[in-house]
Amino acid sequence: MSSETASAKSPYGVKNPCIARLKVAHELTRPGATKSTWHYEIDLSGSGMEFTPGDSLAVQPQNDPELVGSIITALGFSGTETVPNPKGGEGTIRDVLTAVSAITEFDGKLLKAVAAKTGDNALLDLTTLEKKDELKKYNLGRDVLDVLNENPAAKFEPAEFIGLLRRLNVRLYSISSSLKAFPDQVHLTIATVRYESRGRQRNGVCSTFFADRVTLGSPLPTFIKSGAGFRLPEPNDDSPIIMCGPGTGIAPFRAFCQERRATGARGDAWLFFGEINRATCFFYEDEWQSYLADGTLRRMDTAFSRDQAQKLYVQHKMLEHGRLLFDWLEHGAIFYVCGDASRMAADVDKALQEIIAKEGGKTSEQALEYLETMKAAKRYRRDVY
Ligand code: NAP
Repeated sequence: MSSETASAKSPYGVKNPCIARLKVAHELTRPGATKSTWHYEIDLSGSGMEFTPGDSLAVQPQNDPELVGSIITALGFSGTETVPNPKGGEGTIRDVLTAVSAITEFDGKLLKAVAAKTGDNALLDLTTLEKKDELKKYNLGRDVLDVLNENPAAKFEPAEFIGLLRRLNVRLYSISSSLKAFPDQVHLTIATVRYESRGRQRNGVCSTFFADRVTLGSPLPTFIKSGAGFRLPEPNDDSPIIMCGPGTGIAPFRAFCQERRATGARGDAWLFFGEINRATCFFYEDEWQSYLADGTLRRMDTAFSRDQAQKLYVQHKMLEHGRLLFDWLEHGAIFYVCGDASRMAADVDKALQEIIAKEGGKTSEQALEYLETMKAAKRYRRDVY
């Protein structure tokens, strides 16, 4: 999926982003939570930017100035050196490292140049095609500053160094609001990524850009990335929908519920949500209660993984209600899943297969076929990252 493709409806794209402004920011996680997830409201008034629930917002972040400063120091520069700006023209190395070049990730180009300067053949070897998997492992948990610190003998000219870095790309976030409920606004639900690696604190580029550096009213370059494969049924389509969104995967389903309330959609809706603790991480709880009260949601099942000794996940709640879930599928329900791709989405897929086999009296091959048929009919839709 290319982040360069703007929505057909929007005049904005990576080269001509809409300069939106942050209007509201509040933490969704409560005190005592072991993670930090935030709700952001971005003002689009006057921009003409439009989107549909299921779309994502592309945001052009800037790098952490502290990390930029450490790289400049490691290189032995002052920060005021003039370099070509890969986007055109020129700028100081500090500005280019802040806004244009990627510094939390790198590829073989940087390593090749370092190896050439230090004569490190093992490092050079890592950049060959055959060592692709080893290079991936080497890159994990390392950033540009690690490479410089581990290779102090490698000295660069300012422009040469910039030429070895990748571009700082936009980040995509599933939109968590509907224009019908919040005209001229786009809402995001973002988990702030902070962790430690190699004895240093690491910060997710865009999530900490929002949490630490974007202030209310400051300009935010954005555009819409169409989520054409992740759409609600048309308003006059009565198909039931089942939404499974643990963690920040809840985002598009908040947009779906807002949209369905606004359009008076008649199909039933069932939401599965999972997080670590009910007391600290039940995001948007009041809003879900209001959807349950007015029928926008028929059912909601939650799985708070760390509220009991055994882990409880969304797929366990699906299995618990397997009979009913299969009935919904048999009545034409569309199944949506959003969130973590590495483990959750695969486990939810496995649970679906198990439910279809058990409740539908099918073999595992037939259950797989059933899911394939659902996919072909666009009744199994995924937005996973
Ligand atoms: P998360 O880590 O996906 O956790 C949400 C819930 O899912 C927790 O209760 C977790 O339980 C549970 N879980 C863990 N493994 C599971 C599995 N195999 N099946 C089902 N549930 C499972 O929450 P998140 O905060 O949304 O983070 C997701 C990742 O997406 C982060 O690494 C983030 O960087 C990335 N990401 C986020 C955004 C965004 O914020 N909008 C955008 C792009 C990427 P336990 O932790 O207790 O096991």
